Amino acid sequence: MLVEPERTAYDLRFRLLGFPIRIHPLFWLGAALLGAFTLDMGFQYLLIWMAVVLISILVHELGHAVLFRWFGTEAAIVLYVFGGLAIPHAFVTGRWRRIAISLAGPCAGFLLCAVVYLSNQQFHWASNPEGFLTAGRAVGFFYLALLWVNLYWGLLNLLPVVPLDGGQVARELCGLIWGPRGTRIALQISLVVAVSLVVYSLVCVATANGPALAFLPGWLPRGTIFTAILFGLLAYTSYQLLQQLRWTDAHWDDRVPWER
Ligand SMILES: [Zn+2]
Repeated sequence: MLVEPERTAYDLRFRLLGFPIRIHPLFWLGAALLGAFTLDMGFQYLLIWMAVVLISILVHELGHAVLFRWFGTEAAIVLYVFGGLAIPHAFVTGRWRRIAISLAGPCAGFLLCAVVYLSNQQFHWASNPEGFLTAGRAVGFFYLALLWVNLYWGLLNLLPVVPLDGGQVARELCGLIWGPRGTRIALQISLVVAVSLVVYSLVCVATANGPALAFLPGWLPRGTIFTAILFGLLAYTSYQLLQQLRWTDAHWDDRVPWER
C-alpha cells in the first residue's frame, strides 16, 4: 500500500479531470471479495456493488488529486486491491497543505454521500416521499450502497493508522508537536490502534456479533474477518516501520566527530 503496484498488461487506463487513472486487475478482485455478501441476491447486485466501489474509491482519490493540483503539483491515480493511491509528481511542502490533501479524500466521499442523500430527498429517485425504497430493489440497493460505502470508507480512512489518510494526518500532527520524535510516536499510536481493531474484529467474528456485543451502539460497524486481516497487515506495516526507525537510530549517527 505504500508503493505503487507494478504495471500489468490488464491495467485499465483512462483520464478523468485530466488526471491519469490506472486500474490494476487486482482491484476488481478486491471489490468482488468485499461484495461477496451479495452472492445470494443475484449476480446483478454484485455488479452494482462493484460499480459503487469503483465510483467511491475514484471520488476519494480525486479528492486527494484535486488538492495536489490546487497546491501546484499534478498527480496520478492508481486503484489497487482494497483501495487506491493518488501519487503526486512532486513533494508538497507545508505541513498544513499535506494535512489538507490527506483530509480531502474522505471529505470528497462525505460530499458525494451528501449529494446522493439530498438528491434522493429532492427527487425521490431511489425511494418514495415516505422514505421507503420503492424504485426497484436494484436502484434502492445502489442508493444504500453508495451512502454506506462512502460513509464508512471515509471513516475507516480517518483512523490514525499508517498509511491510511488519518495515519498521515497523525504523523504530521505528531511532527508538529514532538518534532523529529513525532514519526515514532505516530507509528506507536498506529500500531496500538491497528492491534486493537484486530482484537475487536476477532471478538466480533468469534461471538458472531451475538448478545455479548449488544452493549455496542447499533451504528458502530462490526468487525469481520476482512477487517481483522486488513488491520493485521497494517499493524505489521507499522511494526516494520518502527523497527526500521530503531535501526536507523542505532546505526545512523550524523553528529560531527568531535561531538561523539
Ligand atoms: Zn485517501
